[in-house]
Amino acid sequence: MKQTTRRCAKYRRARLLMSRKDGRGSCEHCAALFDYYLVHNGFNESSYAYCERCGRVALVDWWSMPDEVGEAFRRHAADGMRILQPCPCGGRFTADAGPRCPRCVAPLSPLVAAEWLERNAAGTSRGWGWQRDWTGIYCIVIEDRVVRDNWIGAKRAV
Ligand SMILES: [Zn+2]
Ligand SMILES: [Zn+2]
Repeated sequence: MKQTTRRCAKYRRARLLMSRKDGRGSCEHCAALFDYYLVHNGFNESSYAYCERCGRVALVDWWSMPDEVGEAFRRHAADGMRILQPCPCGGRFTADAGPRCPRCVAPLSPLVAAEWLERNAAGTSRGWGWQRDWTGIYCIVIEDRVVRDNWIGAKRAV
């Protein structure tokens, strides 16, 4: 099944690398404003994890993911973590970490974030609602802090 759709990988990646901005979010701790975008891991055919220290996102393409990661289209389970390289900040991507404010580095609440995520989303008036957790099909990239396909020993996908 993986092989039949592999030809789309280049297109998917080009789309993923485009600079995006869905709106501005705010930190409930220090009131900092920041740019962000949401990634739908189903459309993107990826799964993800957050850095426990800085909240950066690791996005892993599902088609080139080692089988033992196991979690498609949502946040990784714990056993996927040992195959991910550390974050550029020196922290680890863990199964229970979430995004953090880029200024004060405090963890952001998925419930508080619902207020600005739903206000900024074009689909809200048509019934879209934020998932209200950091584990579901959407992940958030704040200030373009994202690494891709960073598993240990993997050759970099093109
Ligand atoms: Zn980090
Ligand atoms: Zn803050």
